[in-house]
Amino acid sequence: MRFLHLGLATILCASSLCAQGKPLHGIDVTDIDRKSNPCNDFYEFANGNWRARNPIPASMVIWSKRWAAGESTKEVLHEILDEASAKSASAPAKSTDRLIGDFYGACMDEKQIDAQGVKVLKREFDLIQSIGSVSDLQHAIARLHAEAIFVPFYLGSQQDPHSPTQVIATTGANGLGLPDRDYYLKDDDKSKETRQKYVEHVAAIFALAGHEKAAAATAAQVVMRMETSLAEASLTNVELRDPYATDHKMKLEDAQKITPDFNWLEYYKTLHLDPAVALNVDQPKFMAEFERQLQKTSLADWKTYLTWQVLLTAAASLSTPFVKEDFAFNHEYLQGTKEMKPRWKRCAESTDGNLGEALGKKYVEKTFSPEAKARMQEMVKNILLALHDDILTLTWMSDETKKKALEKLSTFNPKVGYPDKWKDYSSVEITRDSYWNNLVEARRFAVRDDQQLIGKPVDRGRWGMTTPTSNAYYNPFLNEIVFPAGILLPPMFDVTATDAANYGGIGPVIGHEISHGFDDEGAQFDATGELKSWWTPDDYKKFQSRGKCVVDQFSSYTVEGGLHENGKLVLGESIGDLGGVKLAYLAFQKSMEGKPRPADKDGFSPEQQFFISWGQARGDAIRPETQRQFVLTNPHPVSKYRVIGPLCNLPEFEKAFACKAGDAMVRPAADRCEIW
Ligand SMILES: [Zn+2]
Repeated sequence: MRFLHLGLATILCASSLCAQGKPLHGIDVTDIDRKSNPCNDFYEFANGNWRARNPIPASMVIWSKRWAAGESTKEVLHEILDEASAKSASAPAKSTDRLIGDFYGACMDEKQIDAQGVKVLKREFDLIQSIGSVSDLQHAIARLHAEAIFVPFYLGSQQDPHSPTQVIATTGANGLGLPDRDYYLKDDDKSKETRQKYVEHVAAIFALAGHEKAAAATAAQVVMRMETSLAEASLTNVELRDPYATDHKMKLEDAQKITPDFNWLEYYKTLHLDPAVALNVDQPKFMAEFERQLQKTSLADWKTYLTWQVLLTAAASLSTPFVKEDFAFNHEYLQGTKEMKPRWKRCAESTDGNLGEALGKKYVEKTFSPEAKARMQEMVKNILLALHDDILTLTWMSDETKKKALEKLSTFNPKVGYPDKWKDYSSVEITRDSYWNNLVEARRFAVRDDQQLIGKPVDRGRWGMTTPTSNAYYNPFLNEIVFPAGILLPPMFDVTATDAANYGGIGPVIGHEISHGFDDEGAQFDATGELKSWWTPDDYKKFQSRGKCVVDQFSSYTVEGGLHENGKLVLGESIGDLGGVKLAYLAFQKSMEGKPRPADKDGFSPEQQFFISWGQARGDAIRPETQRQFVLTNPHPVSKYRVIGPLCNLPEFEKAFACKAGDAMVRPAADRCEIW
């Protein structure tokens, strides 16, 4: 396949900017810290000045130009929502303005929310209080699941990894109030302190909900005990990265054998699910623990646990004292946030989270141009072609595996900007009367919208992120890479920016997502999304030993407080970054062929601009508390190591900045990691 490239001028001249003769944007040289040496501390060099001039705002935990762009997006949503809210009373029933305007309007009505207090949870509390038998308990669990309060387990749809054109049901471990199962089990002082604070927080929320102080404290102990048992039975976040560890497709009657005391047929009836469709019990050990809890935990304790889970779900949406207590623990203590976001922003985020495709449609109409989409699609195509060319040159991979890799690559489905078909929210009843009731309506819709897929052929048009989201993803089942409009903003991407800035900004993100199709997880799904290795055993062994190099590199990195990155946890994301930067660089080089060489900027060559753009788009400042949570739970390394980790391995970077052996940004040749 030949490397196709549509020249920059072709795309830009489709827009009015070309006619206006405006110069292209590029990297911002004023963000560079010139006191730092790019060969020793590229992280500081690329973006240090920006960080020094722009401290993390009190309401944020991570900050960079990209995060600032994400917050600016919320200002656009704010305008859309204010306008919709103002005209919703006169807007036609079931119109988008009515839907999002009333949802946002009810969220903004703090006076009403404060007056209603915890009384809005009466329906859920009554349901829990009426539990008098194990069968009542099961019924309550099913009813809570219908409101997306998925405790202690989750049930949703999943593409069948063994018959990838079909959708089956899947269960998942859930039901914890702390960020990860390790928080319940680790023995260090900080973890112990966190558990102590959590128990106090649970007691405080129970007290706000009307429990006497002593009863609230007892309830918090019950919650801690139950959640710890569930945590012990849950897989670790490293174990969860192995798709085979969560692959247990079975008939419903076999799931019944794992949990004899849970009546699956009744549960399916309540949720209108088809018991003939296969179910993936993703963590049998967890479900066995659920069974044990059904047998041994008293109904009184179950009621306490379920009450807590309802309060946990609702707290941030209830009256001011709940909102403050939720913030104090989950944001201030766990993440180090200093100040709550303004209400309008929390309500815009909630509308995005709950009615995302209604709000998102308005957002893209206002912000996302066809020119931006075309230029992005072109870059995706060029980076896919870069990997194609790269695979052909790999010396460690056999022709047999290469053939399969190219086959998988040729079926990649890139989605850019927004879905072709938007969700239909006409069954959702939103009013101005109660924010919580609106949330429940939206949550019920989300559950129906997901569970109605079970038993049907796969719908390839669905999106897993809303369009204003500043993020991207790869889905191994559908072999698709998805870039919402919300990430296609400077410094990641700008339709009026140079190729150096765009290939260095969004380019490595594109390459990263493509690379997920071939990392240690993606390598186990074939082109159709079937869980089936397509590697020869010998090639896969070589791939794993190359991955080991990345594990070792990242395990050697530490953050504040002496915590180490967990190389095994961040392996896939780090392979993604290593491959992503390299592929974007190859595509960028190719884009310059046969054209006059692009101008230097302030003395920086196009190649240097590419790497600086990566540092500026990916780098950020992070609060130590958030960094701690990140390192413990997130499969991505912290941004500092995402920026410099791949570059230390790349001869292209070394050459661009004329770095020398012995410089911190140059790993010794024997230690260099190279996969793609
Ligand atoms: Zn990723």
